[in-house]
Amino acid sequence: MFVLSPNQVQRFYRGGAKIARFRALDVAGDGPEDWVASTTTVAGEPQAGLTRLPDGRLLADAIDQDPAWFLGPAHLAAYGADSSLLVKLLDAGERLPVHCHPGRAYSRAHLGCAHGKTEAWIVLAADGADPCVYLGFAEAVPAGVLAGWVAQQDVAALLGSLHKLPVAPGDSVLVPAGTPHAIGPGVFLTELQEPTDLSILLEWQGFVGDGAQDGTLGLGYDRVLGAVDRTPWDTQRLAAVRRSAAATGTGSSVTALLPSAADSFFRADWLRPGDGLRLDAGYAVWIVAGGRGTLRTEHGGALELHQGMTVLVAYGDGPASLTGAAEVIRCRPPAPG
Ligand SMILES: [Zn+2]
Repeated sequence: MFVLSPNQVQRFYRGGAKIARFRALDVAGDGPEDWVASTTTVAGEPQAGLTRLPDGRLLADAIDQDPAWFLGPAHLAAYGADSSLLVKLLDAGERLPVHCHPGRAYSRAHLGCAHGKTEAWIVLAADGADPCVYLGFAEAVPAGVLAGWVAQQDVAALLGSLHKLPVAPGDSVLVPAGTPHAIGPGVFLTELQEPTDLSILLEWQGFVGDGAQDGTLGLGYDRVLGAVDRTPWDTQRLAAVRRSAAATGTGSSVTALLPSAADSFFRADWLRPGDGLRLDAGYAVWIVAGGRGTLRTEHGGALELHQGMTVLVAYGDGPASLTGAAEVIRCRPPAPG
């Protein structure tokens, strides 16, 4: 297993102070996102975004060299030598623009890429008067109306058309590809996603220089708006993508943070050690959300955990145990098979 260093990345929005606070960094890095266990590069960049292991190797190269040790036989059979997962710490220092991401079918057809960017959020902290996220159109939006809002950069209409959801620490939301969304200011979260950096900016003014150039995946708005889910989200549909880990008691527990619809993209659990947890071997990214504890693995030794640590556990580390009082978000790749 590997303790991962901060890997902050510059984006087109402000933020980053909460990453420094969460990780108790003496010297704050630059950028509102920390890409954890990343084998993904920032769009258009040769290296930015990639995680380097403590021994100096890029994680992507290390997995290439020994995929069976990192990922295990079942993952390898299902997905090949691809972790299929990107985890981030994301500090929305300001409201993010209204945007969405392409799905797998769209990426394959138009971008020559096997992955889309379905994502999920697990809220670590939320401050300000009204911590919230925005997700899904409340009413169906005709294609021409959406194109007009985007062309005019009618932010009031774009934002006002979405559901506004209040959030608190421990809340999680699955964001299927295509769903328009935004994250409110003051929200700090762990994000799981497919390993790409593909965004479609419906709102771009004030964030990037030219939306058509920087926010359409090179396709232009006429084509790329076809990837947007313009269907309405009712109460039932919203409830199906939201969970909370807040009320699961104090005993040993592994609480699934995402609905089963997420399983083919990624999995996330909230771990509470209680009297001690035993966990099967497998590739996992651990975010220590709070408290202190000890992670032991059969072949990788023991590690003292404290808030802000990010740890990559490989399949080859073997079965693991967690003791103490650490609260851990365990992020895993899609379920094999
Ligand atoms: Zn997004």
